[in-house]
Amino acid sequence: MSAFESDLRKRLRTLEEQSLLRELRCISSPQAIRIKLGNRELLNFSANDYLGLATHPQLKAAALEATERFGTGSGASRLISGSLEPHHLLERELAAFKKAEAALVFSSGYATALGTITALLGKDDIIVLDKLVHASIVDAARLSGATLRIFRHNDLDDLERILRWARARLVGSSTVLVATESVFSMDGDAAPLREIVDLKRRYGAWLMLDEAHATGLFGPHLRGLAEEFGVASEVEVQMGTLGKALGSAGGYIAGCQALIDYLVNKARSFIFSTASPPSVSAAARAALSLVASSEGLARVEKLRRNIELLRGGFPFADSAPYAPILPLIVGGEGDALKLAAKLREKGIFVPAVRYPSVPKGKARLRFTLSSAHTPEEIEFLRNALAECL
Ligand SMILES: *Cc1c(COP(=O)(O)O)cnc(C)c1O
Repeated sequence: MSAFESDLRKRLRTLEEQSLLRELRCISSPQAIRIKLGNRELLNFSANDYLGLATHPQLKAAALEATERFGTGSGASRLISGSLEPHHLLERELAAFKKAEAALVFSSGYATALGTITALLGKDDIIVLDKLVHASIVDAARLSGATLRIFRHNDLDDLERILRWARARLVGSSTVLVATESVFSMDGDAAPLREIVDLKRRYGAWLMLDEAHATGLFGPHLRGLAEEFGVASEVEVQMGTLGKALGSAGGYIAGCQALIDYLVNKARSFIFSTASPPSVSAAARAALSLVASSEGLARVEKLRRNIELLRGGFPFADSAPYAPILPLIVGGEGDALKLAAKLREKGIFVPAVRYPSVPKGKARLRFTLSSAHTPEEIEFLRNALAECL
């Protein structure tokens, strides 16, 4: 074994000793409610495909049609030659969906956060993040070179303390950006958006809101939690992803035209990366049109009934009403792995989420629900959980 290899083996052993080793499990079925893992069929409570759209016939048909018309690859970055029509149509429809002037799509949510924050901020600026915000935003904040401050999770007093500090420290044209999630990815709880908007306005900061787990699920038109709270027009930088409730892939920013024009010029993860395949944008367009139709609301209603069926009787963490993420905090990383394995034996697939996705000692099983689960499948999970706990 080379020195290189043995060094890596040693690092992997350390991870394993800490119950932090991660492994890929090959799934040989569609990403649906019943997945095939090896030669077993398991009930899936792990996907972010909250509305069951990842296998919807209309999305598949749209992707196939776009592949027939435009081929499999976009050929280059959007600014070189890859700015194919499906991407433009999607952006126009996303802007209309979000009631924003304009929108821009990126190849992933991760790339969206990275490109947007590093474009907007530099070393003279300040970025203020919720303690539990997604890794893509943390990494972007670090890369931007801005001064990074963290406020305690959903703690408005702590946020105000930092905003006061930041205001006193600003010089010239430097800015403060507050970034948070609307529904938190690993806890399923919601940010106090009205109060955060009020604070950022009082202190002259900008707000970036990541609606990855709320787009398509909340608000009268399912635009997200900012719509539900009536504050969407106050959020300067509206972010979301296309790979969760919308069943496709990618990320987006919606906002004023100047923001989008600026990102096209400055967001490096947009400029220096090949555009998504046309089929991906076509599928996302089909998802948006479904979500905007009566089928969208019907699926959300069904999802909400499923959430009600699962809640109650089990020590899930306090997630927001109707959030499809129900975490069962176990604590120890090894214990979480064992519980996930026990449930797998009973035919349930659920991930043991561990550090660094969540803080050390806060390992959990993260159950996610879909409108495509049947009440019988939820009951099956309830019984399995009751036997394991
Ligand atoms: C999933 C997720 C992302 C990243 O999106 P991808 O499209 O998976 O890269 C960003 N922010 C949050 C809150 C997420 O949950």
